[in-house]
Amino acid sequence: LGTGNENIAKYKDPKQPVGVRVKDLIGRMTLQEKIGQMIQIDRIAATPHLMTKSFIGSLLSGGGSTPRPRASAADWVNMVNDFQKGCLSTRLGIPMIYGIDAVHGHNNVYNATIFPHNIGLGATRDPELVRRIGDATAIEVRATGIQYAFAPCIAVCRDPRWGRCYESYSEDPKVVQEMTDIILGLQGDIPSGSRKGVPYVIGKNKVAACAKHFVGDGGTTRGINENNTLTDVHGLLSIHMPAYYDSIIKGVSTVMVSYSSWNGKKMHENREMITGFLKGTLKFKGFVISDWAGLDRITSPPHANYTYSVLAGVQAGIDMIMLPYNVTEFVNDLTYLVKNKFISMDRIDDAVERILLIKFNLGLFENPMADLSLVNEIGSQAHRNIAREAVRKSLVLLKNGKRESEPLLPLPKKASKILVAGSHADNLGYQCGGWTIAWQGFRGNNETSGTTILDAIKSSVDKKTEVIYSENPDTQYLKSNHFDYAIVAVGEHPYTETVGDSQTLTMADPGPDVINNVCGSFKCVVVVISGRPIVIEPYMSVIDALVAAWLPGTEGQGVTDVLFGDYGFTGKLPRTWFRSVDQLPMNVGDSHYDPLFPFGFGLTTKTMVARSVSAGIDGRPYIAFVVIFLFAGLYFQGIVF
Ligand code: BGC
Repeated sequence: LGTGNENIAKYKDPKQPVGVRVKDLIGRMTLQEKIGQMIQIDRIAATPHLMTKSFIGSLLSGGGSTPRPRASAADWVNMVNDFQKGCLSTRLGIPMIYGIDAVHGHNNVYNATIFPHNIGLGATRDPELVRRIGDATAIEVRATGIQYAFAPCIAVCRDPRWGRCYESYSEDPKVVQEMTDIILGLQGDIPSGSRKGVPYVIGKNKVAACAKHFVGDGGTTRGINENNTLTDVHGLLSIHMPAYYDSIIKGVSTVMVSYSSWNGKKMHENREMITGFLKGTLKFKGFVISDWAGLDRITSPPHANYTYSVLAGVQAGIDMIMLPYNVTEFVNDLTYLVKNKFISMDRIDDAVERILLIKFNLGLFENPMADLSLVNEIGSQAHRNIAREAVRKSLVLLKNGKRESEPLLPLPKKASKILVAGSHADNLGYQCGGWTIAWQGFRGNNETSGTTILDAIKSSVDKKTEVIYSENPDTQYLKSNHFDYAIVAVGEHPYTETVGDSQTLTMADPGPDVINNVCGSFKCVVVVISGRPIVIEPYMSVIDALVAAWLPGTEGQGVTDVLFGDYGFTGKLPRTWFRSVDQLPMNVGDSHYDPLFPFGFGLTTKTMVARSVSAGIDGRPYIAFVVIFLFAGLYFQGIVF
C-alpha cells in the first residue's frame, strides 16, 4: 500500500519516516546545495537574495543582533519569515533554521522575561524549576519565529576569573549534570522508547537546544577565555565531560565546539574528540556547530590559512560552520577540498544529514513560516512568576547578623525610615548582566522592562515605611539621618566573554566605600549582584548580613520575597567563595581548601507567617487553624473524646 502521496517527493511527505526523508533529500542535492546547508551567517550580513543564491542553511542573531532597537515580536517574525521565503524559493525549498543566544530567557528581545544567569540557577539545585525555565524560554523564542537556542552552556567553570563563569551552573560537574534538565524544557519530553543520543521530534512551541562549548571551556588556565585547558584524560572525562553524557541522553539536538584548546590543541580541529568521542563513543546523532568564526581561529592569527582551517574543522567533524568569515571563500575552499578528495563526500553527507534531521524534527518542512499566535507569551506574567521564583531560590544567604543570636533577616516591613544604597539597587542592566539586549548587556533602566530591587523594596514594605534611595550617601548625610536599617546593593558591571576576564575580581567602585560608610553607620544587609564570587573578605567585619544574588534578571521582587521573609532563603553556593584571588583556582575537593564560604554553603531563614496576597497565601497555618476549631467545636458538643 502506498501512502497516498506517491506523486510528491518522499522528503516532502510527512508520512515517511524521518530517516527516509533525509536520505531522499540528500540524494537530490548538489555539492553546492550541501555546502550551503553547512553555513550559518549573521542576519546582519544576510539578505533573502544571498540565502537563495548560496543555498544558506542557517542564520543567527549573534550577540544582540536584532532587526531594530526595541524590535517587537512582529518585527522579529516578519524578519525571520522574509529570510525563510528566500530559502523556500530555491530548487529544493529547504527551510533554514534560525539560532539565537537565548541563554537566560529570550534575552535579546525587548520586554522578554530575563531569568537569572546559570550561576544563580545552579544555586537553586532545582532541576524541575530549570526545566520550567527552559519551557518558558522556548515559547518566548518561538514567539519571535526562531527555532534554535544556543543553550544550555554546560561549562564547568573551575576558575571564577573566567569572564563566562556566570554562564556555568557550578564548579561541580554533578550540579551541572542535573541542570541539563533545561534541555527537556527547551525541546520537550523524550518520547518513551526513544534511543539514547538520538534527537527527537520537537514540539510546536519548542526549540532545538545546544550543549556548549565542547569541551573543557571552563577549565582554562587562570580562567582566561578561549585559552588552554591543561588536564589529563581523567580530568577532562571526570570534570568537563559528564554533562555531555546527560545532554545526549536527554536528546540534545546540537553541540557547539569550544574556542578553547585541550592540552594545546584547538578543539575546533580535534577530530579525536568530536568525531571519535562525541559522535563515535557517545553516539551523538545531532549536528555539531562551530563557535562564531571558530574555524578562522584554528590558525593564529585568525584566517591566516583558511583552506587549512576549513579542512581541519570539517574533518574534525564540525557539521555547521557559524560565521565562515567570507562565504565565497568558504564555499570555494570546501568545494576544492571535496573535489580533490581531501574531504570525502561521505563526510559532507554526514554533516548535511545531521542538519536535515534536526530540521525535519523541528517540523520545519511542514511549518516553515512563523505566525503571530504566540506574541503574548513574551514577558507574560506566568513566565515572570517563574523567573521570580527562580530569583528567590537562587539567593544565597552567607551571613545573617554579627552574632548568630541576633539575625538581621528577615527584615521588618514596618519601620519608620530605611536606606537603600549602592549602584546596583536601581539598575536593571546591572541586575541582568551580560547577554541582555546587547552582547555586553546594558546599564540603566530603559532598555527593557522589569523590576529593580529598589522598586521591589518600595512595593514590599509597609505603606508607612519611608524608603530613601541614595546611590552613594556621604558621611555627613549618614550622620544627620537616622535609619532603622540599610539595604546596600553592590557588585560587578555587566560583561560578556573575554571582556569579563578578571585577575582581580574586585567590586565595582564605589561599592567598597558605600559598604564601609553605610554599614559603618547602620545595621545593613549587603546584596551582591555579580556573575561570580568577588573579593568581599575585607568588608566582612562591617557587614551585618550578606546575600549573594548573582545576576537575577528582570524580576527584582524575587530578592525582596526572601529579604522580607515572605519566603525563606534556600539557595546553596554553586561554587567556592574564595578569600583572596591568590588562592585561585580553588574548588571543592582540593587538598588546600580554605575558602571564605565553602561550596554548598547557604544559611536558611524561616518564612514569616503573614504573606501578602500577591505572593500567594500559604494555606498550611490556615488549615491547621480550621482543624483546631473544628475539633474544639466537636469537643464542646461532646461528639469526640
Ligand atoms: C560565543 C557562543 C555564542 C556565539 C553566538 C560566541 O562568541 O562563544 O557562546 O553562542 O558567540 O553568538
